[in-house]
Amino acid sequence: MKIRLAGPPIIDSIVDGPGLRTTIFVQGCLRHCPGCHNPQTWDPAGGYEEDTATIKKIISEAKMQDGVTFSGGEPFLQAEPLIEVAAHVKKLGLNLWSFSGFKLEELQAGTPAQRELLRYLDVLVDGPFILAQRSLELYFKGSSNQRTLQLHDGQLVKQID
Ligand code: SF4
Repeated sequence: MKIRLAGPPIIDSIVDGPGLRTTIFVQGCLRHCPGCHNPQTWDPAGGYEEDTATIKKIISEAKMQDGVTFSGGEPFLQAEPLIEVAAHVKKLGLNLWSFSGFKLEELQAGTPAQRELLRYLDVLVDGPFILAQRSLELYFKGSSNQRTLQLHDGQLVKQID
């Protein structure tokens, strides 16, 4: 399946969740939050097209990774190809985080693919970046309105930050 990426997967990331992680930066976000760190990822026609098979191979071959993180851009605008990647991540026994400008409740009421993708996640960091609530003291998120949510089967277990 094809997916549009903002750049090649980053291996050994320490800023997108706990431990060493492989981060997938998807291309395309319609939210345009003022102060967004990745405005180059906004254009849905930007970046480049990649095969999910290539991403799965990169994830399989990366050594000593604790997990995988979907970032962007807005991962849930490309939920269908990410479901395939997410299933592979879980098959490898890795934990899976995703960032999203949508709130959990919006995704739970979203498209079938968005709801399906949620079911694979261990953690969702949700909500848009709000410049007025920006803080440099937060772990793995940019503004205090965003929530770090532990999920199971697409449902909230608890808010961990
Ligand atoms: S949701 Fe994220 S990627 Fe999209 S504009 Fe906001 S901060 Fe940037």
